[in-house]
This record gives sequence, structure tokens and C-alpha cells, in this order.
Amino acid sequence: MKKEFLDKLDDLLPLVESPGRYVGNELNVVEKDITADTIRFAFAFPDIYEVGMSHLGMKILYHLLNEQEAVYCERTFAPWIDMEKVMRENDIPLYTLESKDKLSNFDFVGFTLQYEMSFSNILNMLDLGQIPIYSKDRGEEDPFIIVGGPCAFNTEPLADFVDIVVVGEAEEVLLELIDVYKRNKGTSRKDLLKKFMALKGVYIPSFYDVEYRNEGEILQVKSLVEGAPEKIQKRYIEDLDKVSFPDKIILPYIQTVHDRIMLEVFRGCTRGCRFCQAGMIYRPMREKSPERLKEDARKLLEATGYDEISLSSLSTTDYSKLPELINHLKEYEEKKVSVSLPSLRIDTFSIGLADELQKVRKSGLTFAPEAGTQRLRDVINKGVTEEDLLTTVSEAFEAGWGHVKLYFMIGLPTETMEDIEGIADLAEKVLDRYYKTESPKKNRNVKIVVSTSSFVPKVFTPFQWEGQNSIEEIIEKQNYLKSRLKNRKISYNWHEPGLSVLEGVFARGDRRIGKVLYTAWKKGCKFDDTREIFKYDVWMEAFEECGINPEDYAQAKRREDEILPWDIIDAGVSKAFLRKEKKKAFEETTTEYCRNDCSNCGITSFSGRWVCNDLGSN
Ligand code: SF4
Repeated sequence: MKKEFLDKLDDLLPLVESPGRYVGNELNVVEKDITADTIRFAFAFPDIYEVGMSHLGMKILYHLLNEQEAVYCERTFAPWIDMEKVMRENDIPLYTLESKDKLSNFDFVGFTLQYEMSFSNILNMLDLGQIPIYSKDRGEEDPFIIVGGPCAFNTEPLADFVDIVVVGEAEEVLLELIDVYKRNKGTSRKDLLKKFMALKGVYIPSFYDVEYRNEGEILQVKSLVEGAPEKIQKRYIEDLDKVSFPDKIILPYIQTVHDRIMLEVFRGCTRGCRFCQAGMIYRPMREKSPERLKEDARKLLEATGYDEISLSSLSTTDYSKLPELINHLKEYEEKKVSVSLPSLRIDTFSIGLADELQKVRKSGLTFAPEAGTQRLRDVINKGVTEEDLLTTVSEAFEAGWGHVKLYFMIGLPTETMEDIEGIADLAEKVLDRYYKTESPKKNRNVKIVVSTSSFVPKVFTPFQWEGQNSIEEIIEKQNYLKSRLKNRKISYNWHEPGLSVLEGVFARGDRRIGKVLYTAWKKGCKFDDTREIFKYDVWMEAFEECGINPEDYAQAKRREDEILPWDIIDAGVSKAFLRKEKKKAFEETTTEYCRNDCSNCGITSFSGRWVCNDLGSN
């Protein structure tokens, strides 16, 4: 049946920016007949089309779900401000790009939680999709709201809004969920949730109640339903070669953030940087075989015609079979297909490789020393020295690169102004290396970009108990750097301080933060990570109205023995390991790369088998 709003949409789309975001019908899109038996899954990305369509996880899950005959997975994205206005004024609900049906007609609406600052977009999308915002208000006809992704490791701020949380990698568990749903169609919503609860990696927030002490600490978490597990163990895929990977991907009509084939070479990371959540929650590290990757590349090139393959992972030069894979992919060179490595570690091996791969374009190189002094790099266990960086940039300058981006974090635990000074010093030393480089290939246009983000303590990291800097402290450090980085060959980018503080509140927030989120959204907050749209003052008003002080969440240190909001989740790394790593951080001692020496993070007993050392040292 034709949706009543489609005619209106035809007239209205030319009035909005980038109408291509809202039309669908791209090449390789999945089309299915919808019958009474079809299980309908709307994959909702809480950001605009260009961002969502660049996301590998979305491509994987879209493909995986649509492989199931009984399931039809469709896509929807957050409409940009102009489109939302048009939709609201003309009674157009949020719809999926495939069937143009509104979200409330689906069985499941799944959101991926990549970043805490997209939470307000989730509420907005539910509202636009005509789905009750609070899970308690949803009835038998409403879809189940399911969330997953890195922020699912602490979904407590979203506990009142979502029905199902998938903790960890979703490939297997989503299929199990769908299977339970298929076998129990017609069962009441509550009974279905109880059946979902029995699956490993599934958390149903409404089945628990949290009691707080007067000062705000958690007193206890009580389960409200018999059999609700005390801990939810994360899911992970043991053998990446056996997991489904799309052999066809949708080709957007408009330019997206990453317009290329992405090959996922491994998951996890064994480096152990102490601030890095991804490095902890995606343990153990698991590699794909080069054979499987070659096959994936061949199929995707055939299906898309893209001319760039990007090797994606947390730290691609750690892939143990990288030379073999690159050698193979270089066979595509004559077909003008290039290979890129988005994340480079600071070592000369990376430069050799990047040089080989980027024969034509010597655009820019990005390195992340993260801290300005060796002392602080030891605190965070970054495992790179100043000499590593300077030698590597020298080689890069010799090979013809002129643009170097350096990423740092400010506000890390134990940081002093000396460490901030170290950032400026390091940038100047890098520039100095450029002037000292003599090479026929030397690029004439040198540009050093220093970029700082503000440290946000993340759950399941050794710094999860630490506080973050106040806005004033962040601004003071940023201003200092602005005043120090005056050379016109060096530019400085910084991250919005208010946004970092808010991210800190949500990253370690509990259920009480949900009402702040709701209040801020009601007051018009959305697309918070967009500088021009972010309304810090409105957020602060929302905190005040809800009687919650954001500093109690962002800046406050947590006691190591208190019950943390995310303790219900078992991410595989043990609290004992995180405590030990925190202690070592304050002692300024480092921990060896896990492939060389197991640091007993707990994942080997969690997974029941030895994993990291299987990969050999690197
Ligand atoms: S190298 Fe460090 S920052 Fe990068 S993913 Fe691994 S642990 Fe995280």
C-alpha cells in the first residue's frame, strides 16, 4: 500500500539540503516482499546518512540480517535539522529508506551506539518514528528498541528508553534474538523479553531496579524478574573467518564520509593504552586470515567498482599477516585500486608501508603520541618514545610527506602544565626535523597540525575511576597551547570543552541521567556533536531542572570499591587487572605489549582459551 506521505515527500525533498540522504534506491540495496510473516528490522543510525553509510558495522549487520529469508532489514538515519522541520510540519513520520514505512510498523528498531553524544538523536528519532520514548509506555504493537555498539557497555543513561541491549559483538546474538522472536511470535511483550533475557550477551534494563545512597552512590541493584542474570557477559565472535561479511555493499548516490571498501583485518587490540576503551572491550584480539580477506576484497570490488580499499582495525600495522595481504592487494594496482591504512602506529615500518601504498598521493600522515612528555606517555602506557616519533616523521619528510597531524589528549590523569608545554615542544621538534631533512623528494609545503581532545574517563578502562578536567581547566590548557603554537607552519585544533564534559557525564552516567537527557531533548537538544548546534547552556538548564550536578559525574573520582553503574556488564577484562593497571599508571610504569607477555587481563579465562599469544609477537 502506498504510504500517504510519499506524494508530499516528492514535493518537499527539493526544498532540503542533500535530498539524496532521504530517497534510498541505491545500487545493491536489498528489496524483499513484506508479508505477514516477515520479521521487520529497522537499523537506525543516530546520525546523518553520510556518517551512517560509512559505518562498517551497519554494512555487516544489514547484510547479515538480510541473508535470513524471514527477515527484512531496512535503514534509517537521523534527518538533518531542515528535513526534520519539513517532516514535522507535514506530518511525515521517520521512515526507512527501503519500504518507506514508518518506524512504528517494525518489529525491531535497532540503534548503534557509537558515541554518547548521539543519545539525544535517538530520542528524537523515536519521537519522529511515532514510537513512545519511554519503554514503559510501549505496548504490544510497538517495536522492540534494541541497542548495541561500544556505548552499550554502559547504557544506564538510556535504561528507561531502550528495551534490549546487546553487549559486545552482535552478529551471532542478533540471529539468536530473531530466532527466539520467530518461534514465539504472538507471545506477550514481557514474556518475549524474558526469553531474550536468557540469551548470553542480552541485557534487559527494565528487569532491574537501582537503589542509591543519599550521596548518589549505588546501594544495590535488584532484579525484578526471576532468573534475570546478575552479570551480562559480553559476546564476541571466536572465529572471524566464519562470520558473515558483506560481499555486496550499498553504493550511495551522494558522497559519504568514507567512500570506499573497508576490509576488517582484525578485532581487538593488544597494546593496552590505559585510556582506550576500544582496546579493552574488544579483547581478545582476533585476526582474519589473509585468504578470507583476499576473497572479501575480490567480491566487493566486483560488486561495487570502488577504487580504494581501506584496511580497517584499531591498529592495522599490528596485523601479523600484513605484508602478505598487501602483496596480494597490490595486484589490483593495474586496475587503479589503491590500498589505505587509516590508523598508523608511530614506527618506521608504517612509513615504509605507507610509502609503498601511497605512490601517488602523499596527502597527510596522522600520528597519535597522545601526550607531550615521556612521563605521561608512560602513565597512559602508550609505548612510544619521542625518538620513535621524530625518527618516523623524519622518514616521512624524506619520503615526500609535508602534512603531519599529531593527536594529543589533554586532561589525562597526573597531567601538569609541563606536559602541556611538552605538546608544544614536540610540535616544534617535528617542524625542526622537517627543516633538517635533506631529500630530493622533500615536500615544499610543510604543515603540522596539532589536535587535542579532552580526556574522558571511559568504562572498563584502568582510568574508569578517575575524574576529568573541569571546563575552566580545559579552556586554560587550550588557551595556553594557542598562545604557544604561534608558528604559522603549525596549526592547532581543539575539541569543544563543554561537549567533552557532557560526554564524560554520559560515559559513566547512571539511570538518573536519563531524565536530564529527556529534558534536554525536550528543550531542543540534538546533533550535540555539531559545534554550531550544540547547546551547552540548554544542557546545563536541564541538569539544574533535574537537580543533578554534572560535576558529580564528570569530575568526581569514583572509589575503587563502590558499585559502578556498569558493573552489571562483564566485559571480559577483570576489575583486578584494571586496578593493577591504574596503580601502575600512577607509578609511571608501563605494561608490556600483551603479545610479548600476557598481562593477565582476564580475557583468557573469560574466553576459556589462550588467545593473544597465538598470534605471535610483533
Ligand atoms: S594502540 Fe592503544 S589506543 Fe590504539 S586501539 Fe590499541 S589500546 Fe587503543
